[in-house]
Amino acid sequence: CGIFAYLNYCVPRERRYVLEVLLNGLRRLEYRGYDSSGIAVDADLQPQPPGSAPAYAGASPIVFRQEGKIENLVRSVYSEIDEKGVNLDAAFSVHAGIAHTRWATHGVPAPNNSHPQSSGAGDEFLVVHNGIITNYEVLKETLIRHGFVFESDTDTEVIPKLAKFVFDKARDGEGDMTFSQVVMEVMRQLEGAYALIFKSPHYPNELIACKRGSTLILGVNEINGQNCGQSFNNVKSLTANGNPREFFFSSDLCAIVEHTKNYLAIEDNEIIHIQDGSVSILKFDREKEKPASVERALSVLE
Ligand code: GLU
Repeated sequence: CGIFAYLNYCVPRERRYVLEVLLNGLRRLEYRGYDSSGIAVDADLQPQPPGSAPAYAGASPIVFRQEGKIENLVRSVYSEIDEKGVNLDAAFSVHAGIAHTRWATHGVPAPNNSHPQSSGAGDEFLVVHNGIITNYEVLKETLIRHGFVFESDTDTEVIPKLAKFVFDKARDGEGDMTFSQVVMEVMRQLEGAYALIFKSPHYPNELIACKRGSTLILGVNEINGQNCGQSFNNVKSLTANGNPREFFFSSDLCAIVEHTKNYLAIEDNEIIHIQDGSVSILKFDREKEKPASVERALSVLE
């Protein structure tokens, strides 16, 4: 299958633009899987005084899922947008969107089996997945015992539900976890092959990707402009500091090259956390309580 994601930072983008970037990403990846597809974008951002929390923290993302070719998804996105009254002209200075084109392994091609798969009501955690979770049956049984209600026949659905389980448990206990802590706890439970991207209204303006087995690429595009005050954490070889930038995740470079030449081939067990316009890379190790932070250099396409 193909997974794709987009996040802009400090460069205002209209929702129309974000949708087109995601849908075009899927068109490029369609050769990898084409029985169904889906995307999730942010809910509307309310104007806020500078420095305050994003207004859509907690607001459910808007999710579209469709069976068949990408063009079916495109049609249904634009007709649902009319129905739901989604504002295409709303501009966001940060917007995190995820997308998926599916090649079904578990569950027939159908809207409920399409990705993003969800943690349940409110879409608190959404996940796009390339690969197969081999221990999903055991995880599903456990989650059902904890009251989760499954809506798909996929192996993938255990992932967002596990994320919600981990998140809720921490919230009831010693306090909130960071997004990367949640993902690390999820990875600890998963067996099989995967490339995953997580999106959550609990962590607005953030995306997390991780992988084991399946391919995943990060693309970073810097745009000259006003200084946004953030430099990169542990990604080397970007020259400018504090420029507006765009981030992409894709199963294949072919969906990134039209946006940028700067890319990183994500390695197994790496967790890529995009937050506040910055990239952090952590190396997951099942034996260790805390993942190590790693520094990587971006490659540049000739
Ligand atoms: N195993 C997942 C599913 O069947 C993902 C398949 C894929 O890689 O497209 O939904």
